[in-house]
Amino acid sequence: MMSKRRQTLGIQILLGAIILIVLGYTLFPDTSDEAWQKHTARFRQQLLNKKLSSIRPGGKSGQVKAAFVVLARNDELVGIKSAIQQMEDRFNHRFNYPYVFLNDDEFTDEFKQMTSSLTNAETHYGTIDRSMWGYPSHINTTLAAECRAKMQDANIIYGDSESYRHMCRFQSGFFYRHPLLKDFEYYWRVEPYVKYFCDIDYDVFQMMKDNGYKYGWTISLTEYMDTVPTLWSTTLNFINEHKHLINWGKNSLLDWITDDNWETYNGCHFWSNFEIGSLEFLRSPAYTKYFEYLDKAGGFFYERWGDAPVHSLGVALFLKPEEVHFFNDIGYKHEPLMHCPTENYLQSRCSCDPAHNFDWDPWNCAARYRDRIDREFVWDEKKYREKTNPYRIDAA
Ligand code: GDP
Ligand code: MN
Repeated sequence: MMSKRRQTLGIQILLGAIILIVLGYTLFPDTSDEAWQKHTARFRQQLLNKKLSSIRPGGKSGQVKAAFVVLARNDELVGIKSAIQQMEDRFNHRFNYPYVFLNDDEFTDEFKQMTSSLTNAETHYGTIDRSMWGYPSHINTTLAAECRAKMQDANIIYGDSESYRHMCRFQSGFFYRHPLLKDFEYYWRVEPYVKYFCDIDYDVFQMMKDNGYKYGWTISLTEYMDTVPTLWSTTLNFINEHKHLINWGKNSLLDWITDDNWETYNGCHFWSNFEIGSLEFLRSPAYTKYFEYLDKAGGFFYERWGDAPVHSLGVALFLKPEEVHFFNDIGYKHEPLMHCPTENYLQSRCSCDPAHNFDWDPWNCAARYRDRIDREFVWDEKKYREKTNPYRIDAA
């Protein structure tokens, strides 16, 4: 006969075992392969949902629908990774604005994996169809080929490249109409191999929007005029036919683009490999009419009109100086030129060499901008703090 103590101990062990079994089934309902995979898949989905719902367009402040726009080829993966990693480190890990990658070809799985793994933000990948990347029907492709051959003979940079011309036309008049950008109102253009040197701890998109800025730049320079022989005369014709669309008068940017009272274009343009801008401006009737007018004239193919002078002339024709912002605080390099802030209060957050800042080089158009458009386009520290503090978050 068992003693009463041993009987109690037995019941305790039995109860313990039952509790362990019940607990085991609750935590690990079925350890067969299929069920286990379902369980982990559900768990991953929950994580993903959490991630996606906390990262809506608009990042942390949740106001601006903005995205990085990256036009690239699969073989530029390394350059794109380098640019994104810097963008994340210097700015976007605090805000998680999404990326939109565009390509005239399909992105490879490797490209998608290797870029999405560098950010917590959403990444979207799109192809560009023939309506946005190809010859419009009015272009004489035989003539276009002859023009390319001539430009090659004249040693004009990218003179013989057909794809470069499709790219410039796409960037001039189509990227902002791509379906993947439909829901966005601001963009920041990113290119392979560019460098970002300074910590930016405020929401630049929100700052742009609240201040009514529609176009932001860091580097300006004069164009190789051989690439745009008739861009100015075409633009003058457009102006004559659309006088009501132009922002005339003292408060305009028109003085920045000509040195001889409208006789010729001085070539000044914002370097469009860096742009932070309003998609709504590019989609506006005025800019749309301007692009269509240029496109009809054929200079994207018969010459080699770049998207930088086209965007810049559009900005100069339609925007007011107070709608254009110089991002002095964003140290930036696209070979071979660099903007590096020289002021101490900004230098303390940058790793570029201010001795190599390109701003005041004769080839740059910043001096014209200062003298003719806005004496104070480079903010002093007080103005910088005033303007950016409302959008600054604690460094994460
Ligand atoms: P550059 O800066 O004027 O010397 O010209 P890039 O070669 O850097 O081209 C400008 C941008 O367009 C970069 O983001 C390139 O990745 C992109 N790009 C240029 N050509 C093509 C092309 O044929 N296909 C695609 N998908 N992207 C292109
Ligand atoms: Mn480039």
